[in-house]
Amino acid sequence: MIIEKNLVEIIQNIDSPLSKTFLKLEKLNLNSIVQLSNKDWHFQVVNGKKKETVKMFKFINTYFPNKFEKDEVISFCEKIITNSKPKQVTTKIEPRPFKYEPLNVRDTFISLVTETYPHGFEDEVLAYLPQDLEIDDFGNYYKVIGNSETVFTSHLDTALREKSGINLYSFFVKEQEFIKTDETTILGADDKAGVTIMLYMIANNVPGLYYFFLGEERGGIGSKKVANDFIDNPLLKGKKRMVSFDRKNYYSIITSQLGEACCSNEFADGLCNELNKNGLHMKPDDTGVLTDSAQFIWDIPECTNISVGYYDEHKTCERQDIDYLYKLCKAVVRIDWESLKITRDNTKATSSYSNYYSSRNDEDVFEAFAGYDNTYSEFFDLNYTYIKENGVRKKMYISDTWIEKEKSLLAKELENWGTNFVSVVWDGRDCYIRTEEAYEFVGNRSYFIPYISQSKFPF
Ligand SMILES: [Zn+2]
Repeated sequence: MIIEKNLVEIIQNIDSPLSKTFLKLEKLNLNSIVQLSNKDWHFQVVNGKKKETVKMFKFINTYFPNKFEKDEVISFCEKIITNSKPKQVTTKIEPRPFKYEPLNVRDTFISLVTETYPHGFEDEVLAYLPQDLEIDDFGNYYKVIGNSETVFTSHLDTALREKSGINLYSFFVKEQEFIKTDETTILGADDKAGVTIMLYMIANNVPGLYYFFLGEERGGIGSKKVANDFIDNPLLKGKKRMVSFDRKNYYSIITSQLGEACCSNEFADGLCNELNKNGLHMKPDDTGVLTDSAQFIWDIPECTNISVGYYDEHKTCERQDIDYLYKLCKAVVRIDWESLKITRDNTKATSSYSNYYSSRNDEDVFEAFAGYDNTYSEFFDLNYTYIKENGVRKKMYISDTWIEKEKSLLAKELENWGTNFVSVVWDGRDCYIRTEEAYEFVGNRSYFIPYISQSKFPF
């Protein structure tokens, strides 16, 4: 038996009785070579021309049956895996003195992520944006280029609640450059990647209404105000497409947010085709959670969200694929957005709203039917909220499905806050978290409204 040199070095660095025994295998004089496998938790055993991938666990139990405790074997295997991963080489980035150069994607992105901008601090980003942006009644910034039926959106706030500086590092994976932090803060590529793209498009004079929203990470505060005011807002008149640049990864054109269709498959396919012609690998994706464009699905036919190449958003290991971002910038300026086909009927979107709320308003009637009427059995009679519709305040029952969706939003928000929990308990009124040791009350519905109210109906 020959243990491959790399593997020997790794095992020599593991301090356990198993490592010494393992290395003695050499003395068995079997005619095979033990190597690390590309597959985690596996060895590759080469015997003559025959190669076999064997589970580490199985391998150890075959050669040392009943000699070591299970925990010891697991910890030994874990150490082999961690020690065999190449150490990532990172280089500290020293941001250059700022100059507005939106066509330089890398430097633009870096200038936007040298600090965190919690909701309330968005105005500080202005220093890095075009100087001719306009401000709406709600504090969001926008710019109009040409005559267009398309709205592009990104958000200026970062998820972290603390205002802080960011130390930036660069590293490479398969010749692709990524940017990350020193892992004491998030990066905020969510959504400065989106902002970078919009600055690139503006510099290229791509027609559109460019909206830079406030407070997306606090439940879409800025965009919700704009959506509530939709009919009275001349800027939004006749808009047929809304494209948010605020999705992780590199392959999604979001067709659904929170289980609601936000754009048609035809639109998503058309957009994929256009982007993929320009070197991307996009596909329609119906697993969207929520971004600013979700607020407009009742008003604008095609609303979507596009992958901008960040990973692990809201976490300190957040990173941005900077090469992808550059590719995306080049692609989005080559597309004729105005010719993308519109098919979704936004006026029908309100029908799915009944999946979430029972509009049965008369409490007596509701109570009389509760538990008897199958149609409404999904609406538990204690789960209600108030909704203002056409100026009338109504008591609405909230469905179990909707409560489940709210629960996932709450979990996401609590994670943002850095709360440690095993699970979230949410009945539509009170929120508790289960931790390893305890069961704690966190807040009630009115406390969490900013994070869970998704529709344009003011509660
Ligand atoms: Zn975002």
